[in-house]
Amino acid sequence: MTAVNSAPSPTSFRLERRPLELVLRTVHLAARQWLTPGYVRVRLEGADLVGFDSPGSDDHIRIFFPDTAPAGIDELRQAPSREYTPLAWDAESGWLDLEFAVHGADGVAAPWAATADIGSVAGIGGPRGSAVLQGRPDAWLLAGDETAVPAMRRYAHLMDADAVGRILVEVPDADHELPITAPPGVRVTQLHRDDAASGSVLAAALDALGAADRPTGDVFCFIAAEQAIVAPGRALLQGRWGLDPSRFVVKGYWKRGAAEYHAPH
Ligand SMILES: Cc1cc2nc3c(=O)[nH]c(=O)nc-3n(C[C@H](O)[C@H](O)[C@H](O)COP(=O)(O)OP(=O)(O)OC[C@H]3O[C@@H](n4cnc5c(N)ncnc54)[C@H](O)[C@@H]3O)c2cc1C
Repeated sequence: MTAVNSAPSPTSFRLERRPLELVLRTVHLAARQWLTPGYVRVRLEGADLVGFDSPGSDDHIRIFFPDTAPAGIDELRQAPSREYTPLAWDAESGWLDLEFAVHGADGVAAPWAATADIGSVAGIGGPRGSAVLQGRPDAWLLAGDETAVPAMRRYAHLMDADAVGRILVEVPDADHELPITAPPGVRVTQLHRDDAASGSVLAAALDALGAADRPTGDVFCFIAAEQAIVAPGRALLQGRWGLDPSRFVVKGYWKRGAAEYHAPH
């Protein structure tokens, strides 16, 4: 292991684990907004969303996609489902926004987000638990592909005006860039993979960071993309930066060639 270049600092933040009651809600597709040719934001609405909450920035919910309006909640539960990040919601009027990478491979969720009729019924299960960031990190590193952009947008929203750090977003090319609003001290870099495999350009960017690039103080890091990102992510954070794995997040959000991938939780 490479030596860490800064002395241990007092802890400035913690990840508080919170279990949540698992609720299955019936919703319908209310609106669709294309942000790039390969990325769409959808709004779901329904009285069941009154009271919805998602305290953790990288929370996920399970979305159920029935072919036709289900007869009841048991039938809804049988429909194919995939995991997504709640981006924004209104627990009083009952709406929830999500963002989908429309990846072009086969699948259930991405085609639904791209083409389902407005009014189509879906189900929402969860979140069933949260890791809530408490306190103020001294510095931030967020890195991900399109699937991690909703979580990165939520983390960026927690940053105060004096926050410092980096956000790395891997997208196909300039036409697919996904800007993330962040304070001036947080540099947002859009990495273009062009024809390279998803995640490979992000992995190379992480591999290029050495011990000397570790921000000073108590740094919070979130890294998520195609499953192969996990090894370079851990090698950087745990190996070269010496961070405690219980205080950062590195996750595969999907797996090349595998439908309905479940990230280990
Ligand atoms: C905790 C968590 C949170 C997530 N949040 C989001 C989110 O907010 N937005 C989002 O877009 N995704 C998110 N994902 C990823 C999403 O769950 C997967 O991409 C999911 O597999 C897509 O389902 P699908 O039905 O379209 O494709 P599937 O039926 O699961 O897969 C069909 C094929 O498509 C491929 N594939 C799946 N995803 C991609 C991709 N992104 N690029 C290229 N090929 C792909 C698979 O390898 C497979 O070959 C999240 C995943 C996790 C674990």
